[in-house]
Amino acid sequence: MMHNITLIYGDGIGKEVIASAKEIIDYSGADINWDIVEAGYSAQERYGTPLPDHVTDSIKKNRIALKGPVTTPIGKGFRSVNVALRKQLNLFANVRPIKSYDGVDSIHKNVDFVIVRENTEDLYSGVEHMVGEDAAESIKIITRKASERICRFAFNLARKENRKKVTLVHKANIMKLSDGLFLNSGIKCSKEYEDIQFEDMIVDAMSMKLVQSPQDYSVIVAPNLYGDILSDLSAGLIGGLGLAPGANIGENIAVFEPVHGSAPDIAGKNIANPTSAILSGIMLLKYIGEVNRAETIEKALKEIFKDKAKCTEDLGGSLGTREFTQEIINQMKG
Ligand code: NAD
Repeated sequence: MMHNITLIYGDGIGKEVIASAKEIIDYSGADINWDIVEAGYSAQERYGTPLPDHVTDSIKKNRIALKGPVTTPIGKGFRSVNVALRKQLNLFANVRPIKSYDGVDSIHKNVDFVIVRENTEDLYSGVEHMVGEDAAESIKIITRKASERICRFAFNLARKENRKKVTLVHKANIMKLSDGLFLNSGIKCSKEYEDIQFEDMIVDAMSMKLVQSPQDYSVIVAPNLYGDILSDLSAGLIGGLGLAPGANIGENIAVFEPVHGSAPDIAGKNIANPTSAILSGIMLLKYIGEVNRAETIEKALKEIFKDKAKCTEDLGGSLGTREFTQEIINQMKG
């Protein structure tokens, strides 16, 4: 079956890592018609906006996208394309699997949990203003509707993937109303899923426990900001940002993208690790029902990880992005 999928290379290393993921997905034999559109800096230059309407129209039409990271100017310039996309397409769940692989040097082994991050509100609502010249306020928005929706999503994911526990992260001891509402929504939903264990954890304690014993966790559900921070922390536990994939999921639309950003420090040097983009591609293939092809790619990746000579620099090897991609394809051939 042919699948129409929107492809956005994005900025910086996006061009390199998404090219790698596309090449590998194409080699797997999946029948995909890529609808290639531009977002980010290049779109800003060409169309005067970093997120032209035809990009969101393409995703709405195809319902599936593979996207590279997009640079967001800090403290000035255009607002985050990622936040805008997630809001416009109502991609309310950000799903980030954190899994350790044999052969990859990492702080922890046998790690396998999923972070489910609420994607549409919290401090990312962008409601900020100056109070006079010397103070600024950002408004944290948490609603019952979005909180219950993300908690149910986390419990359903746990059931689907045969995971036994959901841990809800909050800071309700301090933000009694906003985080309190998120916590109470989780407690309410947990009653509907008595087959799944439920616990809650204050975000600072969670950070320490993840560093000490990440094997204790299976599904973590968090409001937007804590989910964002814990995702990068967790990527650090299993070998770095080059290994962490992600998906933004809405009612009928899914956008798959690596957790990492556009990494301007290494862009254009053929040294970025494309694994995170490839693993995002594997999630995409599973989502569209191409499970066998997804597993073929993952199997090849696992074999490559066992031999550092076939890996990129961040994994202890010396191969470039393109050469690493070729090794994976050679492994798939084998
Ligand atoms: P980053 O994730 O781009 O980079 C952090 C560090 O990790 C850098 O040292 C980088 O070299 C390294 N790194 C990241 N991905 C790597 C890979 N695949 N292989 C090897 N090393 C890798 O974070 P940043 O520097 O804070 O952000 C850069 C830009 O990306 C910013 O404009 C930010 O807003 C944007 N960003 C976009 C997204 C997205 O589009 N989803 C996500 C995060 C950050």
